[in-house]
Amino acid sequence: MVDDSPDLHRLVKARLKGEPAEFLAVTTGEEGIAKAAELLPAAILLDLDMPPPDGFAVLRAIKDDPRTVHIPVIVLSGKEGSHDKATAFELGAQDYVTKPFDFVEMRARLRAALRLSSLVRLLSERAEVDGLTGLPNRAAFNRRWETEVQENLRIGRPLSLAMFDIDHFKKINDTFGHPAGDEVLQEFARLVSLSIRSTDVVCRFGGEEFAAILPQATPEEARNVCERIRQRLSDQVFNKMPEHKVTVSIGLASAARQVPGATAEGWLEFADKALYSAKRGGRNRMEVTSIDEGTFAGNRPPLKKAG
Ligand code: GH3
Ligand code: MG
Ligand code: MG
Repeated sequence: MVDDSPDLHRLVKARLKGEPAEFLAVTTGEEGIAKAAELLPAAILLDLDMPPPDGFAVLRAIKDDPRTVHIPVIVLSGKEGSHDKATAFELGAQDYVTKPFDFVEMRARLRAALRLSSLVRLLSERAEVDGLTGLPNRAAFNRRWETEVQENLRIGRPLSLAMFDIDHFKKINDTFGHPAGDEVLQEFARLVSLSIRSTDVVCRFGGEEFAAILPQATPEEARNVCERIRQRLSDQVFNKMPEHKVTVSIGLASAARQVPGATAEGWLEFADKALYSAKRGGRNRMEVTSIDEGTFAGNRPPLKKAG
């Protein structure tokens, strides 16, 4: 709850006792914006009439931030005016309650908001899409990657796997703030998407790590694509920190032909090791590992002895 009246916090807290939700309240719009991004609450009760930033400003900030855009916001207002109501809904409010409120109704509206919230969460998990970047998430990656390794085993299609890890990303968050870090992730996602073929796929592997699957690319082509991505990122200018340059380290594992005995996890380990040596080698660089007939030789099922 974001409301400048601590009395109301106490009242609402008491009335919501027994609801299957934890309740946290702040008294300023500024804290409201910060806590929303930090805690990602299931729903927000937001007072309109506060010293700046007022409820409209807070609502705007919450709906502008990709991390918080999906959180349902119930606006609390002392005014019944239809203009404020219309503005709140236009800015993305889920609901609008007029003070002084009827607590039975308020609880029902809050429950509806919480239901919406868990539905949205469920949907985004099912859709296998990363909420911040819009890229496929790791679950989607795993399924696709498994298929590509099988295709290489079956018909000997060339295959490349690139792992990307943004350099000193923690420092970007610490120096310029979390939203600046998020902008970097979004821009990098966009940049990679624009640099690869439509048959390739890039996903958010987790945190500031991304993985790209390049089926059919020769090792030479894969290397060129990744090198171009590395270059483009280092040239990129960011709105939230125009003076700061961002770089990425890349581990690439490539096979020109069939790799007998290969496993999906085995490939990942090789790409990961390459990434690790790119980091150790000074960052903002790529390390390449060739995967060939011999790489997984130990994995081959033993030949049956004749007789
Ligand atoms: P290195 O060059 O060795 O990769 O250093 P690093 O700082 O990039 O690596 P580290 O793994 O220490 O830090 C990763 C940071 O990424 C820590 C975590 O808080 C941050 N992070 C993870 N997910 C997100 C996100 O969605 N948004 C933002 N802004 N930061 C995130
Ligand atoms: Mg990392
Ligand atoms: Mg990193």
